Amino acid sequence: MNTPVLFELSRPGRRGYRLPAWDVPKLDVQAVLPEALCADAPPALPELSEIDVTRHYQRLASKSFGVDLGFYPLGSCTMKYNPKVNEETARLSGFAEAHPLQDERTIQGSLKLMHMLITRLCSITGMTWGTLQSMAGAHGEFTGMKLFSAYFHSRGETGRRKLIVPSSSHGTNPASAHLSGFEVVEIPADRRGLVPLASLEPYLNDTLAGIMLTNPNTLGLFEEDILEIAKRIHQAGGLLYYDGANMNAVMGKSRPGDMGFDVIHLNLHKTFSTPHGGGGPGSGPVLVSSRLVPFLPVPDIVQDGETCRFSWDAPQSIGKVSGFYGNFGVLVRALTYILVMGSDGLTHASEMAVLNANYLMHHLKGLYDLPYDRVCKHEFVLSASSLKEDTGTTALDVAKGLIERGIHPPTVYFPLIVAEALMIEPTETETRETLDGFISAMKEIHDLSYGDPEKLKQAPMHTPVRRVDEVGAARNPKVCWNE
Ligand SMILES: *Cc1c(COP(=O)(O)O)cnc(C)c1O
Repeated sequence: MNTPVLFELSRPGRRGYRLPAWDVPKLDVQAVLPEALCADAPPALPELSEIDVTRHYQRLASKSFGVDLGFYPLGSCTMKYNPKVNEETARLSGFAEAHPLQDERTIQGSLKLMHMLITRLCSITGMTWGTLQSMAGAHGEFTGMKLFSAYFHSRGETGRRKLIVPSSSHGTNPASAHLSGFEVVEIPADRRGLVPLASLEPYLNDTLAGIMLTNPNTLGLFEEDILEIAKRIHQAGGLLYYDGANMNAVMGKSRPGDMGFDVIHLNLHKTFSTPHGGGGPGSGPVLVSSRLVPFLPVPDIVQDGETCRFSWDAPQSIGKVSGFYGNFGVLVRALTYILVMGSDGLTHASEMAVLNANYLMHHLKGLYDLPYDRVCKHEFVLSASSLKEDTGTTALDVAKGLIERGIHPPTVYFPLIVAEALMIEPTETETRETLDGFISAMKEIHDLSYGDPEKLKQAPMHTPVRRVDEVGAARNPKVCWNE
């Protein structure tokens, strides 16, 4: 059952490729490198033939699940199909083989691409300018919080330490705020699943730094009081941070800049079509309103006529937030996607994402609980609470039942404000047939819960790995093959 690791397959002397014999003088490494830097023995790498390696990875790939294999409605994560043309552009040698320390004159195309991308992202979001350095959504949030701090510092308002974070926000929001030294104040969602205006009142004073908001929030619901929220926060001297990880809900429809936000991050690896399985690579550009432009990370990318260059001339900048200029390959994919789609295409993508989510919500709400029954945006949250009460099966069992049926489960047990949560995001790329297949699978699982709950508790029976010990994996992870 277990796939052997490459080290177990290794045989001394076996090779995939043999280099031609030396025909130049051998370099005496020990003579040029300080002894302390030289290893005593060569590294113990596995020795294999090419076909051993090819088959090994092919075996692993065939046991994995990915968005290219089946439906992947993982709420809040936007695992959508990624057009393959993006891969072609990202592999163009001028992009793929550029070095971050190359002279600016030799990487004009790359600079232009980054400049163009910031410009397009600003017009999509209604912001003034931005940076592409941050490598993930959470990294963008961290950068945004540094911008908040720098802004208040420049105004001598260092007493502004309180940051409002609604209970419906993504978990990274309070973490980023806390990590940046702000004091997080959590406010609960009301019965609509939205931020109640009245709950802001106690914090509208000179200790307020601002609010971090996701709109639509993690329940997939649009904060309809957003203009009033923005007005009140600004009147109190605070700033607004927009978590734009899921911009696919509103592209071409509404813009955070128009709603009054001061900082926003986007997840290019969600909305703008870069594959991000296994935790990377990501990119979380940060875009700001005009009053925060002076604090953006350096270097900036400026265009003078036909030429682009880096600019380090920003005395109030928070500095660098990554070694170089961001995850460049992701930027190429994102700009390709934006240009291929065009503004009508992006609007259409959002419309389809919202339509698909509402289609699923409509068909599933009779089978599972729907705690917030309103028109949703790109995702919605069901609850398996009644199912659990009636049959003893849980959201986790539903997820395992989906795996059995060749479907990646939705996000479960998040957001925390919904018990037995099943957070479903179909994305715009799925067909009616796929959505109907998912509805059937969810119905089958529902019926199985009532008919034969023990069977559902055994699922999955037919996958390479059955139920894993999740607690054990988290508490005592084994990260070495021969441990
Ligand atoms: C995914 C997500 C994040 C975090 O993004 P990472 O790239 O995983 O750091 C933040 N907020 C929301 C709403 C998200 O969906």
